[in-house]
Amino acid sequence: MEVSRDALYERALGAYLGFALGDALGATVEFMMPSEIQHAYGMHRDMIGGGWLKLKPGQITDDTQMSMALGESIIDSGGWNAVAAADAFVAWLKTRPVDVGNTCRRGIQRYMNDGSLAGEANEADGGNGACMRNLPLALATLHDDAAFERATREQCHLTHHHPLSDAATLALGRMTRSLMNGGGLKACRTEANRLIAAHPKFRFDPYPGRASGYIVDTVQTVLHHFFYTDSFESCVTAVVNRGEDADTNGALAGMLAGAAYGASSIPRYWLNKLDGTIRSRIENQTDALLSLALQSKETPR
Ligand code: MN
Ligand code: MN
Repeated sequence: MEVSRDALYERALGAYLGFALGDALGATVEFMMPSEIQHAYGMHRDMIGGGWLKLKPGQITDDTQMSMALGESIIDSGGWNAVAAADAFVAWLKTRPVDVGNTCRRGIQRYMNDGSLAGEANEADGGNGACMRNLPLALATLHDDAAFERATREQCHLTHHHPLSDAATLALGRMTRSLMNGGGLKACRTEANRLIAAHPKFRFDPYPGRASGYIVDTVQTVLHHFFYTDSFESCVTAVVNRGEDADTNGALAGMLAGAAYGASSIPRYWLNKLDGTIRSRIENQTDALLSLALQSKETPR
């Protein structure tokens, strides 16, 4: 399937900006339960910041920061480079970020201690922290599926070494890539069905109702609402109002919905709250990552 660079950029930018906005909207209600959100906000839909991290309106958190750190390492290295990515996460950790997931911190510290690029497989690594930051890699390898699969596993294992984290990160990445390439919702649903066939734990229909940072809860929440809404705004709003890991789930929902409906579908009243520096970094990264993808298409290794 051939898609124009402009159409690709529109959907890729939708995915990346959508990710950041889902993070910023969800962060307000992170770790709240749906009934608490309902009580405090009715339906939470405004970029008001606050939350347990006491954020400014529209402020993004670790989810978007780690994605941007990964994206920068890929752009600077001219492609995926595990050492460069690990170094980028170390540099990010040293900025004293507003939030750091426990498993992410443990993995980055392991790399700082012994230079290893992967931990042993660990039952405790089933969180969504590796999945949440993989979009730049999905973009940079957009025309090379084998490179995407190989690099995604390495990216995940820097901090999370768990079969369900791997499976979910690969599946959400394949869905996003398919949407960006113009595959539409049907192909995306086929990919979701494949994930469930391989790992029935991820079944999201009927929705089991939990939205924690456990990768199974995250995938169920994101996919259920993505497939049962029909716009960027309704998808992201529905997901963050499920609370719990609302910023990460909101970010991943924003990524899929942005890839499906495009950057132009993102409401202005959300986009205008995003910090201008973050917005231009995302625009520049999207462009540079797509250029890397197109380069690898023209000069296959
Ligand atoms: Mn976060
Ligand atoms: Mn989170």
